[in-house]
Amino acid sequence: MGLLLFVSLVVLGQAVGGPLRRSTPPPLPPGELELRVFDVGQGDSILLRFGERALLVDAGPDPQTARRVLLPRLARLGVKRLDAVALTHADADHIGGAADILKALPVSAIWMAAKDHAHPLQSVIEAAAHRAGTALERPGDGQILNWHPAVSLRALFASPDVARGDNNQSMVLQVRFGEADILLTGDIERAAERDLAGRVVGLEADVLKVAHHGAGTSSSREFLAAVRPQVAIISAGLGNAFNHPRDDVLRRLRGMGAQVFRTDLAGDVVVRTDGHEITVALERS
Ligand SMILES: [Zn+2]
Repeated sequence: MGLLLFVSLVVLGQAVGGPLRRSTPPPLPPGELELRVFDVGQGDSILLRFGERALLVDAGPDPQTARRVLLPRLARLGVKRLDAVALTHADADHIGGAADILKALPVSAIWMAAKDHAHPLQSVIEAAAHRAGTALERPGDGQILNWHPAVSLRALFASPDVARGDNNQSMVLQVRFGEADILLTGDIERAAERDLAGRVVGLEADVLKVAHHGAGTSSSREFLAAVRPQVAIISAGLGNAFNHPRDDVLRRLRGMGAQVFRTDLAGDVVVRTDGHEITVALERS
């Protein structure tokens, strides 16, 4: 916590005095962790990279976005396989592209929320995983996930007794590298936030993926006070029907001193850290 923060605006693929330039993102230096929140419209898909390791958290809203946005960007980054795909919860805007990712790339494991859901897409993903020989794992609350020995990764779930429903039962991922803390919150709402803020020690994070696309039913004051993010990233679709992110959420985040970055306005939001300093770059493809 309290790391040095640098914000650089890297605009890739922008017209520079002529036709669209398709730049390649700068290579990831050894020893740095990258968090890349893709602009997938209204939904979530987030890539974590460290060395040769790659983990995708959620897979965007639909097969078209997986094929036209996610897979080309993964290819440009040189990601040819995924160690795991974590699906925070079984809503279409998070898992809609998962089967297409599984068809296109080798994936070692899928981490799904522990609870069984009735969403029809879930069986499609399970069938695709079975065909691809991908292991299906269901981490529980507090479980340490093996990804890279230098990066600590822990799954958190709100207690189902006090935080019901798919959104509240999202898998929350706590990522620690050096002194840098990142919290990915899926679509948790106020009840889950209250439960986690009340019982999880060390919920502070330098970088927060804001819950539920900036909906007003999430990002409660008590949760933000427990997390105290310097950088808040919102994944939302431009002009979405839900009015995400809500103005009151933006006000609460900024009131806590967070710098807010939005995929709907900025494109891909890319955070890199060496464990001591954090840089944020914005990449529009
Ligand atoms: Zn969502």
